[in-house]
Amino acid sequence: NVKSDARNNYRYHAPDMERGLKEKVAIEGLLRQAIDKNELLLHYQPRICMRTGVLKGVEALVRWQQPKLGMIPPGEFIPVAEESGLIDSIGTWVLQEACAQAVAWREQGLGKLRVAVNLSPRQFHYANLVAQVQGILAQAGLEPDHLEIEITESAVMKDTESAINTLHLLKELGVVVSVDDFGTGYSSLSYLKLFPIDILKIDQSFVRDMLDNPSDAAIAKAIIALGQSLRLTVVAEGVETRGQAQSLKALGCDEMQGYYFSRPVPAAQIIEIAQRHSPARAGEWVDEISQT
Ligand code: C2E
Ligand code: MG
Ligand code: MG
Ligand code: MG
Repeated sequence: NVKSDARNNYRYHAPDMERGLKEKVAIEGLLRQAIDKNELLLHYQPRICMRTGVLKGVEALVRWQQPKLGMIPPGEFIPVAEESGLIDSIGTWVLQEACAQAVAWREQGLGKLRVAVNLSPRQFHYANLVAQVQGILAQAGLEPDHLEIEITESAVMKDTESAINTLHLLKELGVVVSVDDFGTGYSSLSYLKLFPIDILKIDQSFVRDMLDNPSDAAIAKAIIALGQSLRLTVVAEGVETRGQAQSLKALGCDEMQGYYFSRPVPAAQIIEIAQRHSPARAGEWVDEISQT
């Protein structure tokens, strides 16, 4: 009976939806205070040059240490922040914190270390973004090419004309731009020639199964070849095993990021990783992954 099915469905789903909504509202309320209460923090995931083993940079990944709920991953609160507009203040905080940290590392004697910051689509389309980034760099005293901005394909495809304009202004400023989760968005390849970007990050879904799934391997290979012919740096994310690292290296992937090398870690741990992966010492690691 269709009618009672419909009613049952309604009965079954309504409380779920209500709970979801209540949860969202509750999270939003707590998140609103999170910055002032100092509950947000950044972890940093190393990015390694596959050829030399040198630490090239780190990606800043926000975490929310909520006193009652514990550590909340960004996948759970960034969407709420994006929807509610809280991303504006969270995003500003992330940029300021990441730039200040990059300067602190330099003062601690680390060589050039670029810090990558994720921007959500709403942040990327904020009219004042470029001036804001410029102001934050100046305030922190960070060279623009020490900052990388990670955007997704969907962010640039949303309003391509303004996206191209923003990308040109960022480029003029000297900031590095990468396309995150590359290969998963609804974009056409032709936009790559219009958009002044520097880096492609192969989405982790292709890396995850590349050793078992020939289609994923073919896509990873194609993205690397595309990046090479367009003279873009190609970074693989989500590299979890030595086998994946070896095969990406053989395909000519430039840099990698993933649990195989390191999880995202607090800022203090980056110092030791940078020393082990300085130009003078990094070769050992390359030898190590080259062994079968
Ligand atoms: P993303 O930018 O694509 O970041 C990569 C995610 O993959 C991170 O999750 C990272 O911890 C995880 N990861 C890294 N290596 C591996 C691996 O080897 N295996 C697996 N399974 N996962 C790996 P995280 O930190 O939970 O962040 C999730 C997403 O949240 C990010 O995806 C990014 O889109 C967003 N995000 C994080 N921080 C920020 C931020 O400050 N602002 C904005 N707007 N979004 C952020
Ligand atoms: Mg990212
Ligand atoms: Mg990604
Ligand atoms: Mg992602």
